[in-house]
Amino acid sequence: MDHAQIINQLLCRGLRLEPGGTPPPDQGDDLVLRVEGRAVCPPTAGRFIADSPWSLEQGILCRDGEPLDVAVEVLPAPAFRAENDPSGVPLRKIARRYGADCLLATVGPTCLFWPSPNRCTFCLFGPERDAGRDLEEKTPAQVALAAARAKELDRVEHVLLMAGVVPPAGGEIKHLIECTKAIKEVTGLPVQTALLPPAFTKDLRRLAQAGVDGLDLSLTSFDPALLGRIAPAKAGLGLERYMEAWAESVRLLGAGQVTCVILAGLGEDRVQTLEGCHLLAEMGVIPLVTPARSCSEFELESPPDPEYLAGLYAEVATLMQAHGLSLAMAKAGAARAGAYTALGAWELEPLGLVVRPVRNHDELQAALALRHQVFVREQSIVPESDQDEQDQIALHLGAWQGGELAGVLRLLPEEDGQDLLRLGRLAVAADRRKQGVGSELLSKAKEQALRRGADRLTASVQMANVALFAGQGWREQGEVFTVHGWEHQEMTLELGRDLEATQ
Ligand code: SF4
Repeated sequence: MDHAQIINQLLCRGLRLEPGGTPPPDQGDDLVLRVEGRAVCPPTAGRFIADSPWSLEQGILCRDGEPLDVAVEVLPAPAFRAENDPSGVPLRKIARRYGADCLLATVGPTCLFWPSPNRCTFCLFGPERDAGRDLEEKTPAQVALAAARAKELDRVEHVLLMAGVVPPAGGEIKHLIECTKAIKEVTGLPVQTALLPPAFTKDLRRLAQAGVDGLDLSLTSFDPALLGRIAPAKAGLGLERYMEAWAESVRLLGAGQVTCVILAGLGEDRVQTLEGCHLLAEMGVIPLVTPARSCSEFELESPPDPEYLAGLYAEVATLMQAHGLSLAMAKAGAARAGAYTALGAWELEPLGLVVRPVRNHDELQAALALRHQVFVREQSIVPESDQDEQDQIALHLGAWQGGELAGVLRLLPEEDGQDLLRLGRLAVAADRRKQGVGSELLSKAKEQALRRGADRLTASVQMANVALFAGQGWREQGEVFTVHGWEHQEMTLELGRDLEATQ
C-alpha cells in the first residue's frame, strides 16, 4: 500500500490509540502525525474507531496489528496551549493547532446560526464554545499573543481565523480585520479567514485591504439535498452568492488563495460533487475535498469509503492540474495545512508555466495575435488593431503553459532606449485566466526592469486588474480615467525602494 493510500485510510477509518501508548491529545486539540513527512490528523474518537484496522503502537503504525515500514512521527502536544495571557486566561481557550503548522482561532461572538435549527452539522465553532473550551470574548491582542507563542514554541507558520455570522450584516468582518491586523503586526504570519459569503462583496475587499492572504468560503457540499440537511443556513444563501464571493475573492487575492471545503463520504451525489469541483477549479478556487468525520453533533452511519475518496482525489487532482492549482500555492489556512484531506498526496506535477521574452518573429506574431483577440475582439477597446510603432522597440514577454501561449505583456524603453519604464498590453488568454498567469508575467516584468536598472515601472491598468497589480506592490496614482469606455487606473511600482526592502 502506498503512502497516499495509507493517509487516505487513516483519515477515513481513523486511528486507534492503544491504552498506555501514545497519549491522546488534550480536549479541543487534534493528534497530528507526520506520515512520510506529510501532516495528517486522523480521527481518534467516535463510534467506528474501535473497528479501524489502524493503530499506533509505541510510535509504530500498524495495520491489523502488523507493523508497517512507514516513517511516522507523532508531534508533541502544542506547548503554547499550556500558557496563559497576562490576565491569566489560558491560551488553549484562545486558539488551537490545526494540522502541523497552522493556528486556528475563532473570533467574534458565537455564530447567529449556531443556536438555531439552521446550524451547520459539522461546525468547528459552536461545539467548542458550548463545551467551554473556546472563549467567546477574546480580544485581537489575545489572539495575536497566542499566534506569537505558537510561532515561537510550536513552529506555527500560518493562521486560520474563523468567524460565524454576526449581525448586523457583515458584523464578523470587523472582528476578522482587527485580529488579522493584530496577528500581522505581532508575528508577520500569513492569515486565511474563513467565513460565509458576505452580503456585500465590498466586505471581501475590506479583508484584502487589511492584509488577509487567503479566504475560505466553504459551501460544504454541491449536493443540494444533502446541503439542505447538514448546512441549511448555507443552502439558504444559494450557490449564486457563493459564486459571486469566490469570483471576487480570486480577483482580490489571486488563484490558489481561496478555498472551499467539500465534505465527502456522506452519501452525496458524486456527479454533482465533481461538477462543483470543476466549477471551483475553473474559477481559481481550490476544491478541498475532505472526508467527513463524526463530531459532537453528528455520528456518521459509517466511515467514509477510502476507495470512493481515492476516486474523488484522483479526479480533483487532475482538475487542479489542468487549472494550474495546487495546495502548495496557498499562503495560509486550510489548504496549506492539508492535514484533514489526502488530496495533497494525489496531486500531480503542475503543468509548468514558463515566462520569458519572445524569441523570434513567430513568437512575436503569436503575442500580437493574442492581444488582438483580447483587446479588439473580446473587449473592443480599439476597433481594428492595438499594434503601434512602439511594438518594434518594446520588450515582449510571453507566458507559455504546456507549449501554448497563455499571456503576454510589453515593456517600453525610456528615451535613452535602456531603462525599461512603461508596462502595457497585458493580455491573458480567456481559458488561462485566474491561474496565476498575469501574476507571473508581472513578476518577470519587474525582474527584467530591475536587470536593466530602471527605477520604476508605470502602467495604465484596467480596473479589473488593479488588485492583481496591487498584490505585487504597485500603487495607485491619480484619478480613474476612461479609455474607449473602459475604466483605467494609473499605477506605479517603485523598483529602487522595492530592491532596498529585499536586501
Ligand atoms: S455558519 Fe459557520 S459558524 Fe455558523 S453554524 Fe455554520 S459553520 Fe458554524
